[in-house]
Amino acid sequence: MEKAKKILIVEDEKDISEIIAYNIRRQGYDVDTAYDGETGLNKALSGEFDLVLLDVMLPKMDGFEICKRIREKLQTPIIILTAREEENDKIMGLDLGADDYMTKPFSIGELSSRIKANIRRYSGELKKLGENDGDGTTIKIGDIIIDTENVSVRKNGKEISLSKKEYDLLCFLAKNRGSKFPQDKLLESVWGFGGYYDLRTVDVTVRRIRQKIEDDSSNPKYILNMRSVGYYIPED
Ligand code: CA
Repeated sequence: MEKAKKILIVEDEKDISEIIAYNIRRQGYDVDTAYDGETGLNKALSGEFDLVLLDVMLPKMDGFEICKRIREKLQTPIIILTAREEENDKIMGLDLGADDYMTKPFSIGELSSRIKANIRRYSGELKKLGENDGDGTTIKIGDIIIDTENVSVRKNGKEISLSKKEYDLLCFLAKNRGSKFPQDKLLESVWGFGGYYDLRTVDVTVRRIRQKIEDDSSNPKYILNMRSVGYYIPED
């Protein structure tokens, strides 16, 4: 039998944490909990979890800070849980590298389908990376070189640090150079399950990539957007 996937719940409201833990344990997951930010971060950084459920408002360290610090070291899928329907929270979470986002109250059914989808996507990506070993290719766009074997991006020889999704999106556009993609198409192709995200996720991710790769992100030349048609990387 396959080893149970491990999930870390970082949530200071014990009753919420217990309800989530109880329900996802019943689905066969191995669950650990942390009730404050510092403990949560330390546990997450152990690298033994397949997914982290992360509350935003926490004692000692908030969820955004934890998210940022996890991403400096690990690509473990992170789902942010927040009590507020705040657009800014959502954008901030995704900016800091969270994979998904849920507003409380949510149904356990919805939570578990997102857990499943995020874990599946992550293991799929790891597998793909493994299969690409020794069979790498590079894609060149102007001064930028994407090395798909080593999953790295360089501009004028200098390494550019991208989050997983930023890299995926850049790669997708680079592989389909010249073609224009509306946001919903990009959500479907890059994130894999369009219905769960809102279209601004794409804009936020493009903005972040531009800040990292463009000389002038307000006047981009790598990733362009044709109004009502979509994003694209122009051909030489
Ligand atoms: Ca809280």
